[in-house]
Amino acid sequence: MSTITIFNCFGEPEQINLESKPKIRPVNDYIPTDLKTVNSMSGGKTSAYVAAHYPAGYNVFSLVRIEDSNCRFKDEKIRRLVEDRIQAPFIGTAEDDTIIYTILDLEQYLGTPIHWVTGPTFDWIVKNAGGWLPNKLHRYCTTEMKIRPIFEWVWRTIGEPVTVRIGYRANETKRARKMIDRLNENGLLTIKHSFRKWETGIHKGKNRWEHFQWQRPEFPLIRDRIYKCQIENYWELKPVRFAPFNNCVGCFHRNPVLLRKQFDWHPEKMNWFQSQEGGKNGYWRSDLSYETIGKHNLQVELDVSAFSECDSGFCEG
Ligand code: SF4
Repeated sequence: MSTITIFNCFGEPEQINLESKPKIRPVNDYIPTDLKTVNSMSGGKTSAYVAAHYPAGYNVFSLVRIEDSNCRFKDEKIRRLVEDRIQAPFIGTAEDDTIIYTILDLEQYLGTPIHWVTGPTFDWIVKNAGGWLPNKLHRYCTTEMKIRPIFEWVWRTIGEPVTVRIGYRANETKRARKMIDRLNENGLLTIKHSFRKWETGIHKGKNRWEHFQWQRPEFPLIRDRIYKCQIENYWELKPVRFAPFNNCVGCFHRNPVLLRKQFDWHPEKMNWFQSQEGGKNGYWRSDLSYETIGKHNLQVELDVSAFSECDSGFCEG
């Protein structure tokens, strides 16, 4: 394949030449002509809208976990149900607890199963995947806690590349472009992952990292010119509970004023974010520490609708 079709700012098809794309050597060269579809659910209204309007073969949600017992999910019955879904211990999430009810409500509303997956906890990836806190330049948390668990699930369950529906809205063509720029010469995104270890040689026993071509992104909301207001209107009065903001409550992409407000709404979770800072971990942001943000005396009441959600690929709405 040398070209693919994307939808430009006017929702019109446009051919993109893939011949100049970087050639890496993936381990898998079989690409079916008819790819299975996956809706990646984030717990926000936009990805829920995609799942409701563009049914896929599979809906997948990746849960971000933290180990802090002060952030323990309060409803014990639901907490155990979540452990059963993810097949891993669940103490609490770095996101608004409402996200758990969002996904459970959506399972009922959509009438189709949502596959719950999870990666290592946020505590673990800070210590072991990065060794320092992720930040705007090195956002490895999205890869380790959202993208990689979904990739692992896709590879173990489907075992071949899939079409992933991405919930970028009609005015988010720049974000779609960035993703398209990362496609390889087959029109697929790749991920470096290790499913096995070296059995011989100097690397014996170490992870064997390989490139997998695994997803072809699709942007149905850009193609069909769907904006945020249509999505908001759609979910009004529907029996699905949504948090005012999805994604991690202390995400470093958020405006510091909103982060300050999160200290009022989610004090335990923001304390977790604050407690990660310092020493060799560094800081979530280059401009302000979370301790400084937390101590700031807010003089104004906020219009929360003035803030956008985290803008980080798989963590989006
Ligand atoms: S919401 Fe922010 S902090 Fe959480 S995984 Fe995404 S980028 Fe990282």
